[in-house]
Amino acid sequence: MAGKACNVLITGANRGLGLEMVKQLAEMSCPGRKIFAGCRDPSAPKSQSLQELAKKHPGVIHVIRLDTTDPCSVKESAKQVSLVLGKNGLNLLVNNAGVLFHSNMQTTGAKEMQDSFNTNVVGTMMVTKEFLPYLRVAAKSSGKSGMSCSKAAVVNISTILGSMTTVSDMYSFFPGISYRISKAGLNMLTVCNAVEFKEDGILFALLHPGWVRTDMGGEGGEIEAPESVIGMLQVMDSLTEKQNGAFLGYNGKPVSW
Ligand code: NDP
Repeated sequence: MAGKACNVLITGANRGLGLEMVKQLAEMSCPGRKIFAGCRDPSAPKSQSLQELAKKHPGVIHVIRLDTTDPCSVKESAKQVSLVLGKNGLNLLVNNAGVLFHSNMQTTGAKEMQDSFNTNVVGTMMVTKEFLPYLRVAAKSSGKSGMSCSKAAVVNISTILGSMTTVSDMYSFFPGISYRISKAGLNMLTVCNAVEFKEDGILFALLHPGWVRTDMGGEGGEIEAPESVIGMLQVMDSLTEKQNGAFLGYNGKPVSW
């Protein structure tokens, strides 16, 4: 069964892959599960689909205001989540929120580079730091040995575009230089976290969702969001301590660095 993790927080959950992940998790039978759907503007029209989904699953989906680049919002979101969790921990954090600017070295300025880094790396780092206490609670109280997403885990959504090996083949067709650099940074952040929090029993992994037809992936994408998310949830379920720090595709195959 996909999606064994009980209490899950997904960032950037109002559209695209994040929204689809919330939907699939909510439709699975998992008694007592809490799904925290982070989005930066819950009352905006772009969050309407998420709000409608939350209404269909009362007590399961909790829409949480969370702008991953705003330290106050990150802190406040953790307070909101802890009120619902009570003494329970957070089993799985999916850092999915991301931004992409389509430009190469000559057309990219400092602002795009900083914005990419701010969302794709710093935001992920600050959200992870803020939710670590709740992940630790889950790890300690699980009574399970080893590592898994049903115990305590952080899954960061990366991309093959952050891999050094994809540059020579794909850069002319798809530059996105600030995106590539920031996702390569995210990969390093995740590998460092995997080592630093190993003793806490918290698993860290990176997933590449495939090239998906979302606002970001565009119409030329190779797959739809449901296929990507079905795959990613299956991969998450299969993760053990052997994959701590791993970078895998939505099909479970290792992605090169
Ligand atoms: P979308 O552009 O469709 O959605 C991006 C989501 O991230 C939106 O919910 C957006 O919220 C949110 N977001 C952006 N910045 C912030 C922020 N500061 N705080 C909170 N939320 C934020 O992208 P996808 O769903 O396609 O992508 C999801 C993840 O998958 C990203 O990390 C992306 O890099 C990765 N990915 C996607 C691929 C694809 O082909 N689609 C391929 C490889 C990786 P808002 O509506 O407020 O803007």
